[in-house]
Amino acid sequence: MSDGYFFCFDKMKYVQERKSEPRETRCLLCAVLAGEPGIVDLTVYRDELYAVTVNLYPYNPGHLFLFPVRHVEDVRALTADEAVRQDRLVKYFLDRLDAVYRPSGYNIGYNMGRPAGASLTHLHQHLIPRYSDEIGLADLVAGKRVLVENPRHTLERLKAAVYEWPFSISMT
Ligand SMILES: [Zn+2]
Repeated sequence: MSDGYFFCFDKMKYVQERKSEPRETRCLLCAVLAGEPGIVDLTVYRDELYAVTVNLYPYNPGHLFLFPVRHVEDVRALTADEAVRQDRLVKYFLDRLDAVYRPSGYNIGYNMGRPAGASLTHLHQHLIPRYSDEIGLADLVAGKRVLVENPRHTLERLKAAVYEWPFSISMT
């Protein structure tokens, strides 16, 4: 009995210590926002509330992350202003992706928590273009996805699709 008790106690202490680590050393998106050296920066857009980056490990060409500048980990933590800003950005970048990639559809959404597939704790919304012909032989045979575009190329293509660079979106 006592062994079990102490095991649980130690585990709780371990969890609490992990949570008390400084954010700078464990959040990749905060590191991107802070412009930390050694971080791959694929930022397409940034304002005082929100940022948009190309996913370094895209599911498909044109796969974007939209995320708040504030480090929050739950969609319920977004302020009303942040939620409105995100909504505008989703629609704006759907237009840009339509123009550049002409996909057949999109997956738009969050993975909240590691068991749900979130590899980053910082809340981020996925914008994933889907193509009617995207399932290739390698997908079927090897069960692996084929990266058909370098994410840096994606970044350049999207920047070129913006009229003014850097641009500002009217929030009125
Ligand atoms: Zn963060």
